[in-house]
Amino acid sequence: MMTASRGTDLTVGIDIGGTSVRACVVDPAGHMLDTLRTATPSTAGALEHCLDRLVGELRDRWAVRAVGLAIAGFLTPDRRTVRFAPHLPWLEADVAADMSERIGMPVFAEHDANAAAVAELHFGAAARGHNTLVLAIGTGIGAGLILGGEIYRGSFGVAPELGHLTVVPDGRPCGCGKRGCWERYCSGTALVDTAVEILASQEFGRSVLAAESDADPGSLTGRRVAAAAADGDPVAVAAYADLARWLGLGLGMIADVFDPDLIVLAGGVGAASGLFLDEARDHYAASVTGAGHRQLARIRGTQLGESAGVIGAAQVAREGLSASQ
Ligand SMILES: [Zn+2]
Repeated sequence: MMTASRGTDLTVGIDIGGTSVRACVVDPAGHMLDTLRTATPSTAGALEHCLDRLVGELRDRWAVRAVGLAIAGFLTPDRRTVRFAPHLPWLEADVAADMSERIGMPVFAEHDANAAAVAELHFGAAARGHNTLVLAIGTGIGAGLILGGEIYRGSFGVAPELGHLTVVPDGRPCGCGKRGCWERYCSGTALVDTAVEILASQEFGRSVLAAESDADPGSLTGRRVAAAAADGDPVAVAAYADLARWLGLGLGMIADVFDPDLIVLAGGVGAASGLFLDEARDHYAASVTGAGHRQLARIRGTQLGESAGVIGAAQVAREGLSASQ
């Protein structure tokens, strides 16, 4: 009896990132029951074949009813078409409908940052928020906005591209084609760029990072800067102080626009928020308009970590299914 009723409520969430694809069977409470992971194929045909194969494998083991795709790219407002995805081989592609036809099961697509926000809203750190910003800080910045308990997608379906707000006119070049974007100063990549700038300024004499990057300039990664900061290396600590400043400044601007009650930090850098959160909070509190005379959003870490994308995609499938019935 258990299995019969449980089986009817299962969906598959698939998080399609630039480097890996993760597929997972998820139950209505957000529990992950079975996970598969593989490298992201580089052509559209191979990627689609890979998605079909992952679902095929999972549906052999579980009675799943629908599939949700979390996609890092621009989707049309109806979320049927991927217009453009900088790290995926799809251009103006009807990804969900085509896949649904191939596998004979409903398929729903969602922007990956929105999928993560859906998961945090239903099962994680955003459960008690009303107007919530979910900010994933990793290689870049991904943002999901929940307004009045609903995902906000804008008028034309373009998820909030907060990472590409210009914070430094003519600043560091960004992959989006602009310069001085927020994520060029507040991300794992930014940590490395900032550390390199600090090392070049020779402001700190005694730094492990300085010795390492002299020996091997390619050794400097966001992860290495994080480890060095935890050990108190002055260059790494200064790089984090810079990130905290930019994070606080950006949060202040965002709060000026929509006055959130909750900010959830996710992503690889966000997960290590112990290294910068207090400082970022101070900058945020000082940079909002009317500082000292208004209530500020609570800032907390993700509860679902890197699983938010797949769990959210599965929830999108579940909601899509019930809306179409
Ligand atoms: Zn940009």
